[in-house]
Amino acid sequence: MKIGIIGLGLIGGSMAIDLSAAGYQVIGISRRQAVCDRALERRMVQRASTDMEALAGADLVVICTPIQAIAATVEALLPHIHPDTVLTDVGSVKQPVVATVMQQWANYVGGHPMAGTAHQGIDAALPRLFAGRPYVLTPIAQTPPAAVDRVTQLVHTLGSDLYRCDPASHDQAVAWISHLPVVVSASLISACGSASPEVQGLAQAFASSGFRDTSRVGGGNPELGLMMAKHNHPNLLRSLHHYRQHLDQMIDAIDQEDWGAFESALVQTQRDRPKFVEPYGLG
Ligand code: NAP
Repeated sequence: MKIGIIGLGLIGGSMAIDLSAAGYQVIGISRRQAVCDRALERRMVQRASTDMEALAGADLVVICTPIQAIAATVEALLPHIHPDTVLTDVGSVKQPVVATVMQQWANYVGGHPMAGTAHQGIDAALPRLFAGRPYVLTPIAQTPPAAVDRVTQLVHTLGSDLYRCDPASHDQAVAWISHLPVVVSASLISACGSASPEVQGLAQAFASSGFRDTSRVGGGNPELGLMMAKHNHPNLLRSLHHYRQHLDQMIDAIDQEDWGAFESALVQTQRDRPKFVEPYGLG
């Protein structure tokens, strides 16, 4: 299978590494020649170009640009591909992306690999980033089954755990476990800036694994956070209002020294966490 990857950043570059290693013919597209040169130097791709024409004859094209660039990227790609070419994207929000791209090219399946780091760009790309991680496909009623099969093959090659759901359900679910954590974690980092300079200095020196875990997603690529908030606005807002309610309950319990209520809340969260991630110490 000949696979094109547009946008050789963290996600596109990481995907290129694994697909090349699996023996596929991978063609990378970047807007910048320096990125193409770097992709070839790192042997991520067999061919790299700034020209979409290089994707003529591709069986599958994975669009790995920021969300707001997906529609324009598809538009620029269409003159160069044949009707059998399957498109997929990796955007973190699916409902608006799927609605737009399905109008442009019916042979398309929305996708979202649930993996990332705090870094961006081609030099952030890593092998096996997606292995053992969820990879969600969001086909709709009109999606051709053969297109789903082709993207499913990609997901299996990456070693990911495949999930399928409709775009709206995807966006609701990721608002809770991906987009809400970005805002909570970013607020945590900002709140720590309220301490006096002396205390802040000590806090910075003492910060260890707990702070590293809880601040990671708030200290990542700002463009990603912005795009999540813009494109998944109502779902994120709903999650944030619920979050504020729970935070207020904890504040009230501490303020009133209601240690029973506070402890009950923590016992419940200790019980609930393994439903989302592996038991403490592994996840
Ligand atoms: P990234 O490292 O910044 O890579 C994005 C790449 O897209 C850049 O390297 C850039 O390549 C290209 N690009 C940027 N702006 C563009 C534009 N206006 N038009 C065309 N190409 C453009 O970001 P990323 O983290 O890989 O994110 C890419 C996609 O993956 C996003 O849609 C995001 O929602 C999704 N995603 C991210 C994560 C995560 O945690 N990072 C996880 C899952 C999904 P050139 O400058 O070389 O052209």
